[in-house]
Amino acid sequence: MQYDYLIVGAGLYGCVFAHEATKKGKKCLVIDKRSHIGGNTYCEDHDGIHVHKYGAHIFHTNDKTVWDYVNSFVEFNRYTNSPLAYHQGKIYNLPFNMNTFHQMWGVHKPDEAKKIIDEQIAEYGVTKPKNLEEQAINLVGIDIYEKLIKGYTEKQWGRKATELPPFIIKRLPLRFTFNNNYFNDKYQGIPIGGYNKLTESLVKDIDVRFNTDYLKNRAELDQLAKSVLFTGQIDEYFGYQFGHLEYRSLKFEHERLKTDNFQGNAVVNYTDFSVPYTRILEHKHFEFGTQKHTVITKEYPSDWKPGMEPYYPVNDEKNNQLYRKYALLADQKENVIFGGRLAEYKYYDMHQVVAASLKKARESYDRS
Ligand code: FAD
Ligand code: UDP
Repeated sequence: MQYDYLIVGAGLYGCVFAHEATKKGKKCLVIDKRSHIGGNTYCEDHDGIHVHKYGAHIFHTNDKTVWDYVNSFVEFNRYTNSPLAYHQGKIYNLPFNMNTFHQMWGVHKPDEAKKIIDEQIAEYGVTKPKNLEEQAINLVGIDIYEKLIKGYTEKQWGRKATELPPFIIKRLPLRFTFNNNYFNDKYQGIPIGGYNKLTESLVKDIDVRFNTDYLKNRAELDQLAKSVLFTGQIDEYFGYQFGHLEYRSLKFEHERLKTDNFQGNAVVNYTDFSVPYTRILEHKHFEFGTQKHTVITKEYPSDWKPGMEPYYPVNDEKNNQLYRKYALLADQKENVIFGGRLAEYKYYDMHQVVAASLKKARESYDRS
């Protein structure tokens, strides 16, 4: 056996784990079925513009250990995500804050906004929200739900907001100040030079093979290492023996334009159900780019079928129950570790993936 660890998946989870294991003197081989590093954080260079190939990625965290960790590999800029929402020809600020309330109702003072929202919540009369729709109306009232949430959510997830878990909408802050920062976290930014700088630096001097699908070459690859870290889909690993977990996929349409500024902001959400995409990204604004050209990406939500990229786990009760069956099988596998957004079937953000991978790496040395 040439390696201590075979790391399946060169995403952030795999790269952090490989780095930490190597630091402890373990020999690692990282493989990925894609042709590049970084998993969904991968950026493609378009004449100096780092195009987030798999959708907008903004690093944000409250955890100083995680922030210091990523900053030890690459410097981050001071980008603050302030997406806009476009609805029927009007622009609203996100997340839901005093700017949004002013644009929605013409109010200027927090008390006026609170009064309107409280009245709408009281009129709705649901006390214990059981799904995303109920949770959203209970947070911000019916006007904002109907204009900025319902259409976006239903096209994003391909199902009714009443069939989705409440936690998804709780990702978005609600505040009564004029503050358009999409995140409440203490630390936020984009790696200067793009995310590949981070992931490439994590696996510097570590063996990496691309275009290598573990599940298609399992017997041969298993011969190479004592232990495996698997960061792909857990249901696929187990041959879908209990059935398929559901995912939501996306299609990305990238376009290079001759203008230097297409939309004046990195992210604009399209909340009307009738517009087929959910967001347009303009990548140069993540890094305050001054190029003469620009690159935009339209993000189209799509049903997921085997063979497509599984971007989002659908963490409703039915799928979570199925996941738990696979997780029990995973617990019984000796010398195989399962981690990351796909193997844990969790709507993880990057900072959570870094924290989880660091923790898992530490636990594995304690055992070995
Ligand atoms: P991945 O990045 O998915 O990496 C897994 C890797 O495993 C992939 O490269 C895959 O090709 C490989 N793989 C799978 N199966 C096999 C196999 N059989 N053989 C070989 N290789 C295999 N997080 C944030 O913090 N901020 C954001 O703004 C943000 N925006 C996002 C926007 C979108 C559209 C999406 C989809 C996610 C976003 N995220 C964001 C989440 C972020 O992408 C994840 O938290 C993180 O990238 C997950 O890392 P991972 O290593 O677990 O998974
Ligand atoms: N959401 C919405 N309108 C918006 C933005 C978000 O209704 O303009 C809802 C939608 O249900 C989405 C969820 O909030 O899935 C979480 O949004 P986030 O921006 O965190 O999604 P991600 O970046 O992970 O796709």
